[in-house]
Amino acid sequence: MTASIQAAPSRFDAVIIGAGVAGLYQLYRLREQGLEVKLLEAGDNVGGTWYWNRYPGARVDSQSHVYQYWFSKELNEAWNWSERFPAQPETERYLNFVADRCDLRKDIRFDTRVTAASYDEAARLWSITTEGGDTLQARFFITCAGMLSAPLSSSFAGQERFKGRLFHTARWPKEPIDLAGQRVGVIGTGATGIQVIQTIASQVGRLTVFQRTPQYAIPMRNPKLSDADRAGFKQRFDELRQRVHGTFAGFDYDFDRGAWAELSPEARRAALEELWQDGSLSFWVGSFAEMFFDPQINEEISVFVRDKIRARIEDPAVAAKLIPTSYGFGTHRVPLETHYFEAYNRDNVELVDVRQTPIECITEGGVLTADGKLHELDILILATGFDAGTGALTRIDIRGRGGRSLKEEWRLDIRTTMGLQIHGYPNLFTTAAPLAPSAALCNMTTCLQQQVDWIAGCIAQLRARGLSEMEPTLEIQDRWVESHDALANATLVTKTDSWYMGSNVNGKPRRLLSYIGGVGAYRQQCDEVAAKGYEGFVLR
Ligand SMILES: Cc1cc2nc3c(=O)[nH]c(=O)nc-3n(C[C@H](O)[C@H](O)[C@H](O)COP(=O)(O)OP(=O)(O)OC[C@H]3O[C@@H](n4cnc5c(N)ncnc54)[C@H](O)[C@@H]3O)c2cc1C
Repeated sequence: MTASIQAAPSRFDAVIIGAGVAGLYQLYRLREQGLEVKLLEAGDNVGGTWYWNRYPGARVDSQSHVYQYWFSKELNEAWNWSERFPAQPETERYLNFVADRCDLRKDIRFDTRVTAASYDEAARLWSITTEGGDTLQARFFITCAGMLSAPLSSSFAGQERFKGRLFHTARWPKEPIDLAGQRVGVIGTGATGIQVIQTIASQVGRLTVFQRTPQYAIPMRNPKLSDADRAGFKQRFDELRQRVHGTFAGFDYDFDRGAWAELSPEARRAALEELWQDGSLSFWVGSFAEMFFDPQINEEISVFVRDKIRARIEDPAVAAKLIPTSYGFGTHRVPLETHYFEAYNRDNVELVDVRQTPIECITEGGVLTADGKLHELDILILATGFDAGTGALTRIDIRGRGGRSLKEEWRLDIRTTMGLQIHGYPNLFTTAAPLAPSAALCNMTTCLQQQVDWIAGCIAQLRARGLSEMEPTLEIQDRWVESHDALANATLVTKTDSWYMGSNVNGKPRRLLSYIGGVGAYRQQCDEVAAKGYEGFVLR
């Protein structure tokens, strides 16, 4: 008889998933409390979004002086951003710098994908299983798995037959890809597709762009930062840290230009021009909040942007395809761009409108569209985005009380309590989850740090009171979902198909994934819950 010896699962106070902006900070905050913490990361290094998205042209749309950590003035003093909107390698370097300075790596297991997690009610412990078959146990299970980290990479029939090279932008290889002289196709013209297209149009032999949804993109103004600029931002560190947590979208700009209705047409035009020249997302989430609610105001602003785009495209037929008319400005994620529209004035760039001629399938040779045309390609780039908000968590088999399945529940209806906890899943804490402020309706470093701080506060409270379990009641969760929906449904965002609404994934329940009441208002509500001893949550 052979005795099988099973290794006892490793036991931690907390297990965190994800070594991106949120996970690194969560590890830091919990270790600060003296907890034994293990962070599990699928990639082989830190960075999250900025580790995976190394496609040509990848860069932030948040200004560097607000896309950063606020917990340490020392870190801020020691780091120098080179540009207003840094490219992916620089942001990746920054997150590596933080990991090194704070000595975070010793508690991170890389190349470790979490596949399942289940809660043992009697022991009040989570068992977390990895792809390699290991099990870790922890009292607290914190997912910092990212809002935009589950790529939609198998979107087209016949993809596996393609004889050329195929890449999803969020799984771009580390080694350089030589695009010179190649026939390249890009599917998708969201924020990522735009960055790829504008970057590679002049490098490739031929570029074929497959567009489903045209975008209201804003020209990015991206100067190099001088020593004086950097010194100025460092001097404002305390003020900026305070400010970003109170604005609508976690940036240092806000809706503070007065009411649209009270401005003359000339004053409105002047304000829009000024915001346009700023070359940032301030034209969107730092301009006039009325654009989100009032169809007429939204249309006026949309016309302004359409005119700006039209002026840059030489061929009116191409312009007609590139100018959005079926939805209003700002109801999709607004991208920033650099010479994007001019790319379509080049002889080597072709635009295929897949609403007119849908993609039938991918063949060995390229992309076959419904008009029977085969677009022959050497390289196909999928800029097809993500299963946003839910994907990272539903790709893990998460089981709460009584074996209930998060994946099954969210297949029917996506519900959370403030995006931070979920009824039925005690001691599971989530960042970047649905129904909290997130991507582009929030500068994510602001929102993520606030969520991490709130979670760290919960755990500190529980331990201080000698308790070991926390879970939102069904009532508080229902109330949150109801108030979230009421805010969301008053806006035009919920009347537009986009990944914000889950419309990019077949069968996904429709709900605005990001909280739209504003970062400041959200934070206030989170702080009130904590100040009232976590009213609406059961602490045992
Ligand atoms: C191309 C791109 C540009 C962006 N630009 C901006 C911007 O300008 N401004 C802004 O505010 N936001 C931007 N975002 C949003 C961006 O995702 C956030 O700013 C931020 O980086 C997210 O950090 P995070 O820690 O929440 O998640 P992520 O950075 O996504 O990290 C999550 C980590 O979890 C890991 N993980 C997930 N599931 C598992 C699992 N099962 N097991 C193990 N590990 C797992 C992943 O490998 C990943 O490393 C952008 C996103 C993309 C994709």
